[in-house]
Amino acid sequence: MADYDCIVIGSGIGGLTAGATLAAKGAKVLVLEKNKVAGGYLQSFTRKGATFDACVDCFSGLDNNGPITYLLEQLGVKDALEIIKVDPIRTSIFPDMTVQVHAELARYIEELKGFFPQEGTGIDAFFGVLSDIYSDIEAWGQGLIGNSQPTGMPVNIMKYRGHSYAELIDSYISDGRLKAVLSDRCPFIGLPATEVSAVAMAALIMSYFTGAYRIKGGGQRLVDLIVEGIRGKGGEVLLGAEVVEIGCEAGVVSSVTIASGERFTASHIISNIDYIATTGRLLKTGPEGTSAIKGGALPEVSSSFFIFYMIAKLDLGYLDKTSSIGFYPSFDMGANFGLAAEFSAKSSIGITIPTVLDPGLAPSGQHIIIAHEMASYGYTKSWKRDKDALAEKVMEKAARAIPGLAGAIIFKEAATPATLKRYTAGTGGAAYGWCQTIGLKPMRSPVKGLYFAGHWEGIGGGVLAAAYSGLKAAREIEGVL
Ligand SMILES: Cc1cc2nc3c(=O)[nH]c(=O)nc-3n(C[C@H](O)[C@H](O)[C@H](O)COP(=O)(O)OP(=O)(O)OC[C@H]3O[C@@H](n4cnc5c(N)ncnc54)[C@H](O)[C@@H]3O)c2cc1C
Repeated sequence: MADYDCIVIGSGIGGLTAGATLAAKGAKVLVLEKNKVAGGYLQSFTRKGATFDACVDCFSGLDNNGPITYLLEQLGVKDALEIIKVDPIRTSIFPDMTVQVHAELARYIEELKGFFPQEGTGIDAFFGVLSDIYSDIEAWGQGLIGNSQPTGMPVNIMKYRGHSYAELIDSYISDGRLKAVLSDRCPFIGLPATEVSAVAMAALIMSYFTGAYRIKGGGQRLVDLIVEGIRGKGGEVLLGAEVVEIGCEAGVVSSVTIASGERFTASHIISNIDYIATTGRLLKTGPEGTSAIKGGALPEVSSSFFIFYMIAKLDLGYLDKTSSIGFYPSFDMGANFGLAAEFSAKSSIGITIPTVLDPGLAPSGQHIIIAHEMASYGYTKSWKRDKDALAEKVMEKAARAIPGLAGAIIFKEAATPATLKRYTAGTGGAAYGWCQTIGLKPMRSPVKGLYFAGHWEGIGGGVLAAAYSGLKAAREIEGVL
């Protein structure tokens, strides 16, 4: 008899969701995490008395019907979490135009119509289509929660899954500047509108209108609560336990071995880590599994980020509730993509100032300011050598969005794609797993008993998609336990 019903490799939100769902249903679960702290990209860290969320700006899934809320309820820990609604979701600063992405969709639509009155009909029709696509995604997601059933065919997903986001915009919008404004989230998913899938962008944009949130006190609190919940349901979470091998017997997964040499057996294994590492390096299938792993080309890996963490002593009262900024030096969104564009004068950055909504994250009178620029792992041969110079470039851009920033910084530290790779062991420090291009599908498991959860699973990138993939893996396993 196996030691566990299920072993989860990795404690990112996808792995934790899967492990927690199974533990809450009474399964014997073990989560193994290589780092000393759980959470993957949701982790927080502390410097000079300030708590930084390492990566994530804000996320959805925490509204009343959201999958993370459902999970916390299943674990009996929901009431211990304080969440902060982010409104405006984002403030997009373009040359001579600052657009507030209000948390209420109708208000955002009115804001857009105010800038582009001649495009009013197109704006309504465009958001009508995004809402239709997102209602299919939500219905599918609700089907994974509890015992509710999926509601019919996802006709809108099927209709638009072969289309790029640019095709969708072009069908309804003529003004080039409005096309740029509607593509303001493309640099943060790492692909131009011409390449990113219309369905992936609909998911990213529309999910935030169900509620964009941060965790009071930092994202680590959510992670730690889920870990506590798993343990409370009899599950185990081992930190500092890097999985080095997944063993199989007669073509079915049967065990994992960690770096210390300890081996655990299970009838089901969920990988929350890089698909390429799982199938190419960890999985030892013997001759019968080799062709399944090598067969078929893999999708491209998504872009990574350069992140500049700062503490600044300055008065940001004028920002009111703006805590997330997109800064676009030009309306030419094409200028953001490709190696030559990265860190150029025209490329955009994202800035999160979490202390605007959660002042307790930093000592009194100080703000946390985190600037991100999309960056390819291969941008430089030496991130260590170029880190300080690139941080300076990102800071200069951030200072154009936040006047007075340059002289007010009292702490700074940068993370590069190499840092992200080292931290999560994801290829190229990928921010979203696979590129969210047209036609990206859930990955095939090469052996029986092995499942995937997280942004490498293939249903999408971001916290919400990773959580849904965890629910999906748990649902598949529940059916055969
Ligand atoms: C800078 C940045 C900003 C982002 N902003 C947002 C945002 O605002 N909103 C949003 O929704 N999404 C955002 N994302 C994307 C989002 O963070 C990810 O898509 C999501 O968190 C991925 O979760 P995951 O479950 O796939 O696991 P990951 O977070 O990738 O975690 C995987 C875990 O597996 C562990 N692991 C790896 N190898 C092993 C091994 N061999 N043994 C044991 N453990 C192992 C790792 O240490 C890690 O803890 C951002 C990403 C980045 C990088």
